Amino acid sequence: MKQEQQIIGFDISGDGDETFYSYNPIKQSNNEYQFHKATLEEVNLAAEKAAQAFQHYYKKSGAEKALFLETIAEEIMNTGDELVTICCSETGLPKSRIEGERGRTVNVCCIGKRRFLGRCKDRNGYTRPSTRTKPDLRFMFIALGPVVVFGASNFPLAFSVAGGDTASALAAGCPVIVKAHSSHPATSAMVGKAIQTAARKTGMPDGVFSVLFGDGTKTGMQLVKHPQVKAVGFTGSYKGGKALYDAAVSRPVPIPVYAEMGSSNPVFILPQAMKERGAAIAAAYSGSVTLGVGQFCTNPGILFYPKNDGNDFRSTLKQEFEKTTGGVMLGPPIFNSYKQGVSEHLGISGVEQLAAGNSTTNNGENFATPVLLSANSETFSKSPLLSEEIFGPASIAVTTNSKNEMMDIAKNLSGHLTATVHGTDAELIEYKDLIDILEQKVGRLVINGFPTGVEVCSAMVHGGPFPSTSDSKTTSVGTAAIYRFIRPVCYQNMPQSLLPPELKDKNTLSIYRLINGERSNKDII
Ligand code: NAP
Repeated sequence: MKQEQQIIGFDISGDGDETFYSYNPIKQSNNEYQFHKATLEEVNLAAEKAAQAFQHYYKKSGAEKALFLETIAEEIMNTGDELVTICCSETGLPKSRIEGERGRTVNVCCIGKRRFLGRCKDRNGYTRPSTRTKPDLRFMFIALGPVVVFGASNFPLAFSVAGGDTASALAAGCPVIVKAHSSHPATSAMVGKAIQTAARKTGMPDGVFSVLFGDGTKTGMQLVKHPQVKAVGFTGSYKGGKALYDAAVSRPVPIPVYAEMGSSNPVFILPQAMKERGAAIAAAYSGSVTLGVGQFCTNPGILFYPKNDGNDFRSTLKQEFEKTTGGVMLGPPIFNSYKQGVSEHLGISGVEQLAAGNSTTNNGENFATPVLLSANSETFSKSPLLSEEIFGPASIAVTTNSKNEMMDIAKNLSGHLTATVHGTDAELIEYKDLIDILEQKVGRLVINGFPTGVEVCSAMVHGGPFPSTSDSKTTSVGTAAIYRFIRPVCYQNMPQSLLPPELKDKNTLSIYRLINGERSNKDII
């Protein structure tokens, strides 16, 4: 049995008496890793160390932070097959998926580097005094302070210890304390040690990074309530994200919580598109719902299609869905909540099961069989539960009677990460008012495609209005994610000797700055 401990800056610590084990959802037994849960003293130590580290870390140059992030990427790759093996054993996810996710994670660390340097170039505003009576004003963003990161169970690498929130916070200049997800603690420990090594190698201050193990409701809450913590990044369920948000805003000094929570990602099929390519849409939809056993936050959970002429589509959808296969879910809590979600939806009068995936490969516990439910628009509109996400390979197909009814349904939707519309070119113009409504409901609009798959790039928005996130003004994926962890400061009549290098008259960093509204990389004279 391997004993794993808290990673607190450059130290490790295992003072807690309470322990838990890493669990293998396929074998349905514990792995050989035992973890101590963090004590309150360990939580306080991590937060105090992070606060001290912040004083040095946020003033590090962009190049130094970039080297740190690049070294994290290298150290993660140095974990080799061991990380992949551990991660597969804790999540039941296939090797190819974990290898792909590791590549994405490493790429995000490198983007984090470019993101920081890029931001330096754009982030510095400067207004010269236009008259003798006006002050000298110079503007830039600085880091918020220590950030607590909660990763989700379904992305054990890309939305976890070294995931997007960690990369964004470190790039911004914020120390990070990760509350490791209880469903992949050994993966978290290994990635945490890689980051600890990278911090030492690149001369970062002790406390710039920590990983704590323990329950969200205890260790997580203690971290969020700690006065030294200045922001929270969260990916996970609505229940968890909302509980942490409520705790953060109830503090004597409230702090921002950037929580990416669940979403059912509605898909609308317009009549002509359904007639022309209903079979292709049905096949792709079934694939998208069941990809990765449906364990994606952008999984499409609700399909709206016209009832008139929809009979063929309904039977095609049924046939396509019956071809899908299920798989082992990330762990017993996720599997139990999937079963419960399906059963609660089926308990609503007017909801029936239209199709189930192929269950011949079912190998018992934690194995989810895909389920496609159906209802009409009336049932959907009077049952708010049907709009809620069932995390896993389930979806509900809802018939609609007219364009106006589709519009009404769209108007009543709550916030989601994505919405999708399938239509012909002419229909998309005809239904522009539907698209305009959806634009106000989501962070990403998808036309004639499917929402699963979130590319890491400057144009990506992975966010959306509440309840899909707690703050619709930000994204957790893409270049703009750095804005979560910075705040603007204006320096008025600051002597040159005290100004940050980015704002001095002499542009030693050769960065682009806005000087009296004009973009320039020249010195200020
Ligand atoms: P989760 O159960 O909410 O867990 C996420 C983290 O929050 C864990 O560290 C957990 O601690 C902690 N936590 C949970 N409930 C808490 C509470 N009441 N108080 C304090 N901390 C709490 O989510 P999950 O099971 O990992 O992920 C599945 C969900 O995430 C799905 O709904 C999925 O749609 C969503 N998701 C969303 C996105 C997105 O970007 N919007 C991405 C991926 C997943 P423990 O470790 O102790 O459980």
